[in-house]
Amino acid sequence: MNVSDSQWLDRSLQTMGLTPSREEDADIFLINTCSVREKPEHKIYSLLGRLQDYARLKPHVFAGVGGCVAQQVGRGFFERFPLVRLVFGTDGLAMVPEALKRLLGDAHLKTSLLDFEDYYPEREDNWNGEVPGQAFVNVMQGCDNYCAYCIVPYTRGRQKSRRSEDILAECRRLISLGTKEITLLGQNVNSYGQDRNGQELSFADLLYEIGGLAGLDRLRFTTSHPKDIDSRVIRAFGEISALCPQLHLPLQSGSDRVLEAMGRRYTREEYLNIVRDLKSACPDIALSTDLIVGFPGETEEDFSQTLDMLNLVGFDSSFSFKYSDRTGVRSCEMQPKIAVEIKAERLARLQKLQNEWTAEKLAQRVGRKEPVLIENSSKKQHGGETVSWTGRDPGGRVVHVTLPPGRDFGRQLLQVEIVRAHKHSLTGEVIK
Ligand code: SF4
Repeated sequence: MNVSDSQWLDRSLQTMGLTPSREEDADIFLINTCSVREKPEHKIYSLLGRLQDYARLKPHVFAGVGGCVAQQVGRGFFERFPLVRLVFGTDGLAMVPEALKRLLGDAHLKTSLLDFEDYYPEREDNWNGEVPGQAFVNVMQGCDNYCAYCIVPYTRGRQKSRRSEDILAECRRLISLGTKEITLLGQNVNSYGQDRNGQELSFADLLYEIGGLAGLDRLRFTTSHPKDIDSRVIRAFGEISALCPQLHLPLQSGSDRVLEAMGRRYTREEYLNIVRDLKSACPDIALSTDLIVGFPGETEEDFSQTLDMLNLVGFDSSFSFKYSDRTGVRSCEMQPKIAVEIKAERLARLQKLQNEWTAEKLAQRVGRKEPVLIENSSKKQHGGETVSWTGRDPGGRVVHVTLPPGRDFGRQLLQVEIVRAHKHSLTGEVIK
């Protein structure tokens, strides 16, 4: 979501006539922050400390700080760094271009855009000219779940679904400009519409509407919460031809005891039933997940249940993290905390097992013929005659293909035979 937010801001600023530049030439620095990992605040403080030097040499230079850390620290940035003249939260992003105009017109002004709205703050449509082959479209913002470890409901606010007319209009426009693949984004897309008092489509209906748009080759969505995924969404994987056989379904822990302490509101059995139904609707579905090791109170037995789930589900890939406290969330108060070295050792064991599954899943792709949507060239020339390009198969796996020079293959869907599996990607050869 941060990548998508930054891309929107980049397009908006370029529409205003601003241009991207090297750090030493910049007049404005915009920093979009994330607080999902540890100590992001410190990183931003050291970055701003460094950028402050530019403002000493060129007094007109200023910075804006946005995203989750800005939401938490707020106007505190003004006090610490005179360079900072704008702070904005995720709901304030839509108003940043206007705020920048005001800041450029008044060198003494400082502005904060930190209020949470109780509706989805619609952003100006700034898709102009060339659009990417693969684009993100927001469907909602914020989250109502308050999982014990998570800062998101405090930094991105309560769940706000975007109007389906606006979502569909953006999708239609992207398709008309040449986009082939759309990824719908939200913290918890499966509860889309539930904050609109029955006046909005369900997420399943939205998928069918977008999946039915002529000219769209691929549709994906992220992120799902297992407790909210409904049977119609699961069935959609077998019914909507544009819907890619790929789902990111955060598990977090394989232990019912830990899941309960986390406030996730599903059990391992319920999760396994969802996986069973997904595999029956779409046997080729690629599943990925998020996992936290060392949640307060996690025993070796709890952890072994997480390893067990990896083997029962067979995830294609996973993102795994050591638990760390985030100020203000419930799990900060939970005891006992797990020792750093135990967390590190569990994470290493989990990642070793995941790497084995990933290798096996990738090896299973060799010999398959798949449409690959080419995203970009790695610019590597092979003997001056061919160029290496990277794309994705329907399951979202990265595929490298070597293609003749002199042509732009970006945004093309090519039929490819997978010939080799690597640690995290595949190599294919074009067959037509
Ligand atoms: S559902 Fe996801 S975003 Fe929402 S509180 Fe839980 S972990 Fe955070």
